[in-house]
This record gives sequence, structure tokens and C-alpha cells, in this order.
Amino acid sequence: MKNIRNFCIIAHIDHGKSTLADRLLEFTSTVAEREMQNQLLDNMDLERERGITIKSHAIQMNYHYKGEDYVLNLIDTPGHVDFSYEVSRSIAACEGALLIVDSSQGIEAQTISNLYLAIGNDLEIIPVLNKIDLPHAMPEEVSDQIIELIGCDREDIIHASGKAGIGIEDILAAICERIPAPKGDPTAPLQALIFDSVFNSYRGIEVYFRIFNGTLKKGDKVKFINTGKTYEADEIGVLKLNQEPRQEMSTGNVGYLISGIKNAKEVKVGDTITHVDRPAQGIQGFEDVKPMVFAGIYPVETSEYEELRASMEKLQLNDASLVWEPETSAALGFGFRCGFLGMLHMEIVQERLEREFDMTVITTVPSVQFHAYTTKDKMVKVNAPSEMPDPNYIDHIEEPFIKAQIISKAEFVGPIITLCMDKRGILKNQTYLTSDRVEMTFEMPLAEIVFDFFDKLKTISRGYASLDYELIGFRQSNMVKLDIMLNGEKVDALSAIVHRDKAYDWGKRLCEKLRELLPRQMFEIAIQAAIGQKIIARETVKAMRKNVLAKCYGGDISRKRKLLEKQKKGKKRMRQVGNVEIPQEAFLAVLKLD
Ligand code: GDP
Ligand code: MG
Repeated sequence: MKNIRNFCIIAHIDHGKSTLADRLLEFTSTVAEREMQNQLLDNMDLERERGITIKSHAIQMNYHYKGEDYVLNLIDTPGHVDFSYEVSRSIAACEGALLIVDSSQGIEAQTISNLYLAIGNDLEIIPVLNKIDLPHAMPEEVSDQIIELIGCDREDIIHASGKAGIGIEDILAAICERIPAPKGDPTAPLQALIFDSVFNSYRGIEVYFRIFNGTLKKGDKVKFINTGKTYEADEIGVLKLNQEPRQEMSTGNVGYLISGIKNAKEVKVGDTITHVDRPAQGIQGFEDVKPMVFAGIYPVETSEYEELRASMEKLQLNDASLVWEPETSAALGFGFRCGFLGMLHMEIVQERLEREFDMTVITTVPSVQFHAYTTKDKMVKVNAPSEMPDPNYIDHIEEPFIKAQIISKAEFVGPIITLCMDKRGILKNQTYLTSDRVEMTFEMPLAEIVFDFFDKLKTISRGYASLDYELIGFRQSNMVKLDIMLNGEKVDALSAIVHRDKAYDWGKRLCEKLRELLPRQMFEIAIQAAIGQKIIARETVKAMRKNVLAKCYGGDISRKRKLLEKQKKGKKRMRQVGNVEIPQEAFLAVLKLD
């Protein structure tokens, strides 16, 4: 135990965490060079393509340092704000953290939020100034920022480059010397923290854990404290490049457990594994993940509902943060109302359904959870506009508010404040981190950042601003439900809950957008926006003049068939509502209102 080091790497996205992890794996010969692919820890296709780490993974390295053999467990954490709960559990499994800061960028919002999580868990922080190979690196300036932030000495900061392989040995030395060995009692009742789980179609769910107390042996009867379920530890082991089974694992170590679990809901990140016959207390900090954003997911072909359900179940096996329940929409039929951690998470789920399960789905306008009070103290949770009670019976509505922390170059402060105020934000605080770097804190409605806030922020700051946020609670707001009607028929999937001050503008722009997006059909389509009975905007899509087949009148039959075939393909993501065909883009039109 005295030579075990458990650590994670925290960094703002793109500051070089994955690249640096690769170098550590190489340097400790955990992977041979020929096995090395860039960013080895990001082993999901999607992660590689997007260059981001979606799920946390762990890997064990052996390192010989000053005559001693060390076991270094690296726990990789996702950097995106959507996955902060996973980050927090990974951090809780460690004694130390490498804090990576890109020396050409400086401290960003997620550097700080992850750092606070690490400090909150009493982790030893090793600051690493990364990418010092870059010609425009600003080591002095960024070092000042780091010193200001964590109060370390200048000499504590390691200068490194994951890309050029600089400073790797220094980092490994610091891990051995500065990070404390795990504490705990190997003879005490078992307490192991689940910090991740991965679905394997052959072996069921692999649970990743960190033992805080006690010893786990192969074959032991174990219990997951928060779910109350019991299992047999069929296989336990450590995570190298591949899994290496062990007979026994003890306090301080990190490993995997396989026990024939098929259902992801049984494995909750943050839960504690203990022995059935000698149980311990649960480890603190367990939370059921709370989805922040909700949207409907529907099969394009109504007949594929069961298949979609099966796919969602499988997806949930390795994404415990995805929650869903069946939902029916008058416009879209049978589907699912899903809860996501954020917009990126939503995109990922949709993409995975398509790639890994070959499903073609329609997603509806994302929404946050509103609380509608039908009396002063009777509350209904509204995860979809359709769940909003009749306005006549609503006393008031509350919406989730966040504290948003934005860090930017000083020159963009004006436009950022304007943007946030336009999003109903209130500036609470503004601090200069250095002469050129400003940290701003806003309180704003979550609903306003669900849409295109992040993109806008990036655009107006030319990529220099970073954002992090946390939920601070629910506040009363003047919200209304805005309905869209096509030829007089309400399309429930296009309804949205918006602030009254913005409803007119929203309705008008949405109608205009829909006019662009709805393909012309054989008849005229009236697009209307309404609040209750009141029509607030209207647009018209003119009828189509010719039908496609008319063009090949007299042409040969195979050409006609091809055309029909083509039309059918084009239809893939279309939905018939009444007599109007609606393409997928229309269901997400509100995301692109400008
Ligand atoms: P992560 O998002 O923190 O995991 O960052 P990555 O490791 O994926 O790196 C982000 C980008 O920075 C990639 O294009 C890397 O090639 C590049 N990068 C990473 N480390 C270095 C470095 O030390 N020097 C330079 N010049 N580029 C780097
Ligand atoms: Mg990465």
C-alpha cells in the first residue's frame, strides 16, 4: 500500500490531458510503442473523432523510482461540464491530481471547477505547465496564474510537453514523491467506491472500483450499498492495457469487478461495494445523477419502437447517466422522454444510437425541468411542454437557475455581458485574474444556455471564453407555453416553454424558420404560433407546383422507381402530422433561431 499512488489528471478541454497520459503510459512501458495509438485512453470511436474523453477510464502503471517499485493508478476523467458528476467520483477515488494548464492558453473555466473538486476532496495538486514546446507559450504569465490560483511555489510547477515528451520523468517523480500513499485498513470491512462502469456484451457490466478499506477476494459475496443488490465477485483484477485477473485485491487499489450484472441501473457511479456478511457504511458523496436537459427521442419508423427501446436499454448499460421513460406524442407517436446531463450528452446519445445501433431517430426540442405550482405548495415537475398543467390552474412557475462562471480575455467582457443579459443573466461578480484575464460570474436561467449559448459565447470571444456552471436552485419566472400549429393542427413536439417577454419574438422567428425548413407539399401549409388560444405569429408555405413523377411522364419505369426510391430516402427523417410532412430539422429549429 505504501507504494500505491492513485491520481487523476484534471484540465480544461484540449489542454493536452490525453496526450500527456499517453506519454506516461509509454514511459512506464505500460504499452509498448508498437501498441501505442494516439490518445489511448479515449477508446470509444466517438471520443477519438471528437477528440474528447467521454467516459472515465482507469489504467495501472508500474514504475521503478529511487530503488522502489511503485504502482501508479491513473484515472482519466472527462473534461466537459456535462460530465462533472463522473469527474467528481473519479476525483474521489484519488489522492492526487495533475493539474494541466496549457501554457499558451492559461487557466480556463474547467481548470478551476475541476480544481475545486480536487481541493474539496483533499487531493495533492501537482501543477503542470503543458505545451511548453509551443512558440507562443507564455510560461511566466501562466505560472503567475497558477500560483495565484493554488498558492503553490514557482518551483512546484512542472514544465512539460506531452507532444514533445518534455518533463515526463519529472511528473512521474512528483507523483511518487508528492502524492500521499492511500490510507485505510486492509482488515476492516470492505468499502470500495464505484467510479465507473463499462458495458461488455460478452461479460456483462464491468465495474471499476477503488478500495478504501478491506480486502476483496475472487468469489466473495458482495453487496452494492445504495442499490441493495448482492452478487458474487466472479472475477476481479487490475486494469492494464488489458484486464489482468487477480485472486485478491486490497486497500488502496483500483480495479475491475465482473459479476454477471446485465442491467446498468444496478450499477451506480458513486455507490459502495461491501461484503454481504461483514458490511461497512457507504462512502460519502453518493448522488443519483440528475439530468439537466430533457428531450424526446422517437423512431423515424413507428414500427421500430421496440427496437429503439432495446437499443436505449443497451445504451444505458454503459451510460448510467442516461435516463428515459416512454412518452407518446400526438405528432410523433410512441417514443421516449430522455434526460441528459447536458447538450453534448444529448448529441452523443443520438449519435451512438445511430452508429452503434443503426437506429434512425427524431429528437425533439430540448427543455429543462420546470416546476409548475398548481397551488402555493403543490408542485408538478414538467419535463416536457406537454406536461404543463392548464394555465388557468397554475399559481406560478419556477425554473432552474445556474451560476455560470465565464473566463475570458478582457477585450471580450463587453460583448459577453451583453450576451448574458440578453439571456436573462445577472452579473454577480467580475474579477481580473491578471491584467488581461477576467472572471465573470452570472446567475442565469438554465433554459437560456441549453440552446446555442455556448456557441455564441465562443463566437463573440473568438474561442477565448470558457464556461462552467452549476445549478443553484429554482426561481419563479414568468413562463408560458408556446404552441405551433400546422394547418390548424397543434404539433405537440414543436411546443416550447419560454419566458413571456421573449414569446412573441420566439414565435415569430420559429414560424419563419419553419417556413424555410418545411418542404413544399401539394397544398398550402399555414404555420401559426399560439399562446393558449391567442395566435401570435403566422407564416405560409406555398403549395408545390409539380409532382416529382410528372417530370418523367412517359419515361421508363425504372427511372420512376429510382425517383420514388430517392423520395423514400429523403423521407427517412420525416414525420407525417395530419397531412403535413415534417423533417427532423424542423423539430430542432428552435436551436438555430437567429
Ligand atoms: P485533452 O482534451 O486535454 O485530452 O487534450 P488532447 O491531449 O486531446 O490534446 C489537444 C490538442 O493539443 C491535440 O491537438 C494535441 O495534439 C495537442 N497537444 C497536446 N499536448 C501538446 C503539447 O505538449 N504540445 C503541443 N504543441 N500540442 C499538444
Ligand atoms: Mg482527452
